Amino acid sequence: MTVLRVAIVGLGKIARDQHIPAIATTDGVTLVAVASRHASLPHLPHFATLDQLLRDGPPIDAVALCTPPQVRSNQAATALSAGKHVMLEKPPGASLSELDPLIALAPRAGKTLFATWHSRFAAAVEPARHWLASRRIRSVQITWKEDVRVWHPGQRWIFEAGGLGVFDPGINALSILTRVLPEPAFVTAAELAFPANREAPIAANLSLTDSTGLPISAEFDFRQSGPQTWDIVVETDGGRLVLSSGGARLTLDGEVKVDGINAEYRGLYRRFVDLTATATSDVDLTPLRLVADAFLLGKRRNVEAFED
Ligand code: NAP
Repeated sequence: MTVLRVAIVGLGKIARDQHIPAIATTDGVTLVAVASRHASLPHLPHFATLDQLLRDGPPIDAVALCTPPQVRSNQAATALSAGKHVMLEKPPGASLSELDPLIALAPRAGKTLFATWHSRFAAAVEPARHWLASRRIRSVQITWKEDVRVWHPGQRWIFEAGGLGVFDPGINALSILTRVLPEPAFVTAAELAFPANREAPIAANLSLTDSTGLPISAEFDFRQSGPQTWDIVVETDGGRLVLSSGGARLTLDGEVKVDGINAEYRGLYRRFVDLTATATSDVDLTPLRLVADAFLLGKRRNVEAFED
């Protein structure tokens, strides 16, 4: 069996928390190098930049880009042009249009471009999708509230233009929503709260619907202290479905049906290995389009400055 030799680019929180352990426990993939300006791993070749890695590093087949979205499209273009498969962390880019050239480049290079949505690999998401497929859905309510100081300590990029602010976690909810609903959803209204000293929103309320008029609401907030909430509640003609813990847990009318362990990133790497075997790409921009539409339609509200 050939083993996919991967280099991680951008050794930050998600690379350490999820990518490294997932690669270590997934068949068919191995970590062979790191490119990061300020961080390295013991016993692995390290380079400050992707260019240096490609020029001087060991042979690699693929890169996992774990850098902030604002710098990822250049890195993806460089890696594809150098004949490497590319895994993109979510969101796939800082804009929609920057992704078009990458989508065109991947098949020309004969390589995989994989835009990951890790929350879609949470244990209860596929069971929820199957259960909802045969029900009449009456309403959907998303509540995604977390403490930015806990989950994104010192990440200045998240509040800079292109960093998405509260949509950085919120897009995970939208990635689940767009997977489990049978019809495409679209944004009808949004209200975005911008801290006076930041370029991206710290909270957002969205209204969405679909071609059947389904009422969908989403409440995103980065200022949550105490219990953290990553829930989607779906009322149907067959009862109430609750996806909680970011998609790991499924409850039907109060009865727990799925309570999965976190294996999202192992699922991502298994999928990446499969895609690269045939140089197939997987780039679904639907969640990012919803966020872009929230910015297009959003009413802006200024709120108090946010200090880390
Ligand atoms: P992070 O902790 O800030 O790590 C990103 C790393 O990228 C930094 O440590 C930095 O390493 C490098 N980097 C930062 N700015 C850069 C720049 N301008 N040019 C090149 N490299 C730069 O961020 P993260 O939380 O890991 O998030 C990275 C991506 O993963 C984001 O898109 C995020 O949405 C996604 N993600 C995060 C989480 C989470 O829980 N944190 C969960 C799922 C997905 P060097 O300074 O060493 O170069």
